[in-house]
Amino acid sequence: MYSIGMYSYIGRDLRSGAAAAHAEGAARDAATNTLLLQSQVDRLALAVEALWTIVQDTTGATDEQLMERITDVDMKDGVRDGKVKRPARDCPKCKRKIPPRSPRCIYCGTEVHYVPFQ
Ligand SMILES: [Zn+2]
Repeated sequence: MYSIGMYSYIGRDLRSGAAAAHAEGAARDAATNTLLLQSQVDRLALAVEALWTIVQDTTGATDEQLMERITDVDMKDGVRDGKVKRPARDCPKCKRKIPPRSPRCIYCGTEVHYVPFQ
């Protein structure tokens, strides 16, 4: 026979069990997404290296020139941090600021032309 206190305990236990199962599922999803991202990064690194060898072979560019250019591009946002942060853009229709890589205005839905590397 259960007392009210025991029902409360059982309910809490079920809720914590459901929460734990949800957390485990979220952790599995995160781990899977991390593996997928790592795989994409590996493929991109391979493609970049292959492209770099083509550039070297066809132009004679050196690793030093590449490193200098990487620094130049890195400094476009004023911070040498190994990343390029793109500034927010203005929607051409409503003029609000939108994320730099968004293909559409998040406020009015206007399509915004994507310009690579801007
Ligand atoms: Zn807009």
